[in-house]
Amino acid sequence: MGIPISQMWTVSRYVLTQRLRGRKRYPLVLMLEPLFRCNLACAGCGKIQHPVDVLRRELTPEQCFQAVEECGAPIVSIPGGEPLLHSRIDEIVRGLVRRKKYVYLCTNGLLLEKHLHKFKPSKYLSFSVHIDGVGEEHDAAVCRKGVYDIAVAAIKTAIDRGFRVTTNSTFFRDADPEQARKLFDELTELGVEGMMISPGYEYEKAPQQDNFLPREETVHLFRRIFSRTKTAWRFNQSPLFLEFLKGRWDLDCTPWGNPTYNLFGWQKPCYLVDEGYAKTYQELMDSVQWENYGQASGNPKCANCMVHSGYEATAVQETFTTWAGFWKTASLVLFGSPSTQPLSDEPLMQLQVNSSAKSGKACASSCSTEAPAELVELSSRAS
Ligand code: SF4
Repeated sequence: MGIPISQMWTVSRYVLTQRLRGRKRYPLVLMLEPLFRCNLACAGCGKIQHPVDVLRRELTPEQCFQAVEECGAPIVSIPGGEPLLHSRIDEIVRGLVRRKKYVYLCTNGLLLEKHLHKFKPSKYLSFSVHIDGVGEEHDAAVCRKGVYDIAVAAIKTAIDRGFRVTTNSTFFRDADPEQARKLFDELTELGVEGMMISPGYEYEKAPQQDNFLPREETVHLFRRIFSRTKTAWRFNQSPLFLEFLKGRWDLDCTPWGNPTYNLFGWQKPCYLVDEGYAKTYQELMDSVQWENYGQASGNPKCANCMVHSGYEATAVQETFTTWAGFWKTASLVLFGSPSTQPLSDEPLMQLQVNSSAKSGKACASSCSTEAPAELVELSSRAS
């Protein structure tokens, strides 16, 4: 697994402590969005469609620390927007590292080399670089030429300077399994610590709506990707979550495991669905009817969702709190996961799938080649 031992130890101790205290719902990863501004405008993104006055705003470091202390999660993921556009991102990261939080700063890599001097290598800090494919495939996914080369150069520099570097890749309907395997090979060769993978989510606000995967197609895609797997590939994810993507392990969503805090407050109920905001973490926990979310709830917003921010926390909790999850994880770590067969040859394990298929097009077809003018203007001022 591409997760450091110290981080695994911290997370396992945290989960067991929560269980001993009898807490039924507790956070594992805080999704901290200190701004929505970005220097790209990807077709599958549902985060940058806010009006310009919202895109101008930033959370202060104090607001970020308050959120971290309120919820107490051991891991803080900083997506956005593009966090490196935040005027005080270095202060935020320093404060989180001082609090011994494991920080994943998610970036598209465009500004990484330029801003690297603001950060110090630490076991608590990892840059999580967004890469959806090799070369032109990534450029098409993020709707701008040349981004892949810049991101790869930044990854190399960051690794050379002693930083932890991971990657995150989202796969949509038009993903090619062969290209995905090539991507894993390339990233492994670059020396990244681990790769995080996820299917895309059907954001209502995303400019392209016909490129998201129904549940059955998600499983089919990941089975094809892992039909030839390599031991050298390292994933920065729980082995149970990867088995879930392949339809070999059943999980339901635990949205409280990855609460989201951003400019508007605590997002209800999760990082993906926006049904209003709570002022405090406690209000979020008390006011959401959690049983109304996840695959088993029958909520149509959750029907096709298999994303890491909903299911990874469930996988971690199963690993540390159930014997079945523990033994399965142990065997996957010790012996690896066998290559997958096509859906028709290997039945799904208890996984309820929604087979409603939609017709798809390539992501690039809805891309503008540049971010909207207001974003470009805001981004260049901030950078
Ligand atoms: S299943 Fe997906 S959309 Fe539904 S609550 Fe969980 S993370 Fe959110």
